[in-house]
Amino acid sequence: MTVTQFIEESKGAKLADLSDKDIYLGLMDYVKERSSQLPKNTAKRKVYYISAEFLIGKLLSNNLINLGIYQEVKDELAAAGKSIAQIEDAELEPSLGNGGLGRLASCFIDSMSTLGINGEGVGLNYHCGLFKQVFRNHQQEAEANYWIEDDSWLLPTDISYEVPFRDFTLKSRLDRIAVLGYHKDTKNYLNLFDIDGLDYGLIHDGIAFDKTEITKNLTLFLYPDDSDRNGELLRIYQQYFMVSNAAQLLIDEALERGSNLHDLADYAYIQINDTHPSMVIPELIRLLTEKHSIDFDEAVTIVSKMVGYTNHTILAEALEKWPLDYLNEVVPQLVIIIEKLDALIRSKVSDPAVQIIDDQKRVHMANMDIHFSTSVNGVAALHTEILKSSELKPFYDLYPDKFNNKTNGITFRRWLEFANQDLASYIKELIGDDYLSDATKLEKLLAFADDETVQKRLAEIKFQNKLALKRYLKENKGIDLDENSIIDTQIKRFHEYKRQQMNALYVIHKYLEIKRGHLPKRKITVIFGGKAAPAYIIAQDIIHLILSLSELINNDPEVSPYLNVYLVENYNVTVAEHLIPATDISEQISLASKEASGTGNMKFMLNGALTLGTMDGANVEIAELAGKDNIYTFGQDSDTIIDLYTNQAYVAKDYYEGDEVIKEAVDFIVSQDLLAIGDSKRLKRLHQELVNKDWFMTLIDLKDYIAVKEKMLADYQDQKTWNRKVIKNIARAGFFSSDRTIAQYNEDIWHSH
Ligand SMILES: *Cc1c(COP(=O)(O)O)cnc(C)c1O
Repeated sequence: MTVTQFIEESKGAKLADLSDKDIYLGLMDYVKERSSQLPKNTAKRKVYYISAEFLIGKLLSNNLINLGIYQEVKDELAAAGKSIAQIEDAELEPSLGNGGLGRLASCFIDSMSTLGINGEGVGLNYHCGLFKQVFRNHQQEAEANYWIEDDSWLLPTDISYEVPFRDFTLKSRLDRIAVLGYHKDTKNYLNLFDIDGLDYGLIHDGIAFDKTEITKNLTLFLYPDDSDRNGELLRIYQQYFMVSNAAQLLIDEALERGSNLHDLADYAYIQINDTHPSMVIPELIRLLTEKHSIDFDEAVTIVSKMVGYTNHTILAEALEKWPLDYLNEVVPQLVIIIEKLDALIRSKVSDPAVQIIDDQKRVHMANMDIHFSTSVNGVAALHTEILKSSELKPFYDLYPDKFNNKTNGITFRRWLEFANQDLASYIKELIGDDYLSDATKLEKLLAFADDETVQKRLAEIKFQNKLALKRYLKENKGIDLDENSIIDTQIKRFHEYKRQQMNALYVIHKYLEIKRGHLPKRKITVIFGGKAAPAYIIAQDIIHLILSLSELINNDPEVSPYLNVYLVENYNVTVAEHLIPATDISEQISLASKEASGTGNMKFMLNGALTLGTMDGANVEIAELAGKDNIYTFGQDSDTIIDLYTNQAYVAKDYYEGDEVIKEAVDFIVSQDLLAIGDSKRLKRLHQELVNKDWFMTLIDLKDYIAVKEKMLADYQDQKTWNRKVIKNIARAGFFSSDRTIAQYNEDIWHSH
C-alpha cells in the first residue's frame, strides 16, 4: 500500500480534500504502523540514557527521513497539490527540553538507533514542558506550552511502578516514543514516565502554580521555578520520580532477559546526563538491597560498574547540591543510602573537596556520581582538560582512568538532510551519499574548494535559504527579513557567559557608527533567539535591551537600510531549523572556559556559516578541523580567563573607563534614546552590572570582538574567498556527527554489543 492509499483509506477521503492537519495525522499513523513492525534492538547490555531533558523537535519529517521515504512522500503529496512543508507546520513541537543538553540527548538517541545500539532514553513527560516565550512591552513573559494532542507520537504502555515518597506513594505510567535509526530495521524507545491525575487547573498567571500539590503537579513543567524552598523540593520530587522509575524498569528488563541481578552490570549501563539523574545511584542500591536481598557492599560494587557520568558545565552554581534536610523531607529512604556512601568515601579519603556531604550538610550530586561510576566525561576536548586540571582536579588525582572526553555531536539527518535539503542534495550531486553513513566522507568536498561553479552554487543555495527564512519569519514571527543582507545569528539560551550582551554592545557601536555616517558596504541583519530562565534577572534585562534596540534601530530610517536587529520569539528546534541554513555568521562568543562544548556551533559549520568565536568549547576543535584561516577567532584564551578568576583580577571599570569606544557603547544602554523606549529600571540595572561587576567579562573582549567582526564583514565582500572557507568548513564538519560521538561512548564506556 502506498502512503497515499494508507491515508486516504484511514481518513476516508481523497488526499486533495483533506486538511493539512488530517494529512499530518494520517502520516503519523502510517509511521507508527511501520515502526510498530520493527523489532527492538537486543544486545545483552542495554544502555539507559537518563536525562531530565529531551529536546526532540518535531518528529514527522525526521521519521520519514530515517525510514527512507521522505522524498517519496513529498512527491506523492505534491502530486495531490499538497506541500510537505505546510503539513509539517501542523505538528506541534514537543516541549521536553530546555537547551543544548536536551538537544544533545535527542541527537544521541537518534544515533543509538542508527548504530543499532540497544540504548534508550529515559525521562519525564512534562505536559507543559518548558515555558513558551512571548514578548510584551519589550520583555519576556512565560506561558504554559501545551504540546500533547489527543493524537500524538506517544505510545501508551501498561508499564507502571510505585514510587515511594515520605508522605505518599505515587503510581507512574509509562508512555514511549519510537526512535527509528537512519535506514535501520530495528528501533529503540524514548521512555517518558508520567503520573495520572495531573491538574492543569493549578496553573494561573502564565506559569505560576501551586508547587506543593505534588500528586497533581509532578509532570506539569520542566524546570519549575526553584527560587524558593517549595520549588527546590518539587525538583527533588521530579528527579526521584524519574530515577526510581528508570531503576525499576532497568531491573525488570534485566530480569526478563535472564539476569540474576548479581550480574546486573552485564545487562545494563546507565549514562547520567548532567547531575539531574544522580539519585539513580542510591536508588538502584536501595532496590537491590531492600527488594532483591543483595547485601550493601555487593550492591555498591554492582552499581559502580554500570554507571557513567557526563559533566556539562564548569559553572559551580550549575552543579547541584541538595540540602540533606530537603532530601529527608522527600525521600528519607534514600538519605540512609547516601549517608552510607558518604561514610564509605570518608573511610578512604580525607580531602574535603571530594566528600559527598559537605559540612553544611549539602549533598554534592556530581561527587557521588564520580565516586560510584566507571566513567566521567567532558563534552569537548578543552572542557575535559579544564575538568582534569582545575574544576575536578582532586577527583582526577584520585581516579585518572575514569576521566575521558567525548566531544559532542549532532545528527546530520535533522541538521543537514532535513533542515537544508538543497545543500544536502547538492552535496550528493558532488560526492555521492556515503557521507550519510560515514560523515568524514564530507572531506571529499575539499577537492571543490577552489571550484568557482561550486562556490557560486553554494552562495545561491544560501540565498534561497534566506528567502525561505524570510517567508517563515513573516508568517510566524512578524519579522520582515531583508534577504539581501548578511545574516549574523546568535541563537542559544540567554546566559551572561554566552555574552549576548557583548553582541548587543556591538550592535550599539554599529548603530552609532552608521549615525556618524560610516556606512557598511552591505546591510547586516543581527538575529538573536533564546529564552532566559524566568528567575534570571540579568538575562531578562539583556533580552529587554535587545528588544529595545530592535525597536529603535529597525524604525530609524537613517539606520535601518544598513542594520536590522531582531530577537525571534520562542526559540526552539523548529526555529533553529529555519535560521541555521540561512545564516552567514555564526556567533559563538562565550567567555573562554565557560561553554563546555556547544552544539549550535556545529550545526552552523555544517550548514556553511562561518564561525565568529572565542577559543572555547568545541570552537577549539572547529578551528583545528576547518583550519585557523577558515574561522574568525578573537578574545582572551581560557588559561588567561581562569587565571583572572583565580586572582580575582578582572576589573570591569578599568575597561569601561580606559576606552572611549567601550564607554560609549555601554553608556548608550542608559541613553535618552533607549530610555524613551525601554524600562529604566532594567536598563540602569544592566548598565550598573556591566560597569561594576561584569562577572562574565564582557568588556575584556569587546574591542577585539568588534575588530574581528568588522574584518569578517569586510571579507564577506570577496565572495570567492568567503565561499572557499564555507566549503572547507562543511568538508571538515564530519567529525561532529553524533554517530561518531555515540560510537565512542559505546567503544570506551558502554561496551554494549
Ligand atoms: C542546538 C540547540 C541548542 C544549543 O545551542 P548552543 O549554541 O550550543 O547553546 C539550544 N536550543 C536549540 C533549540 C538547539 O537546536
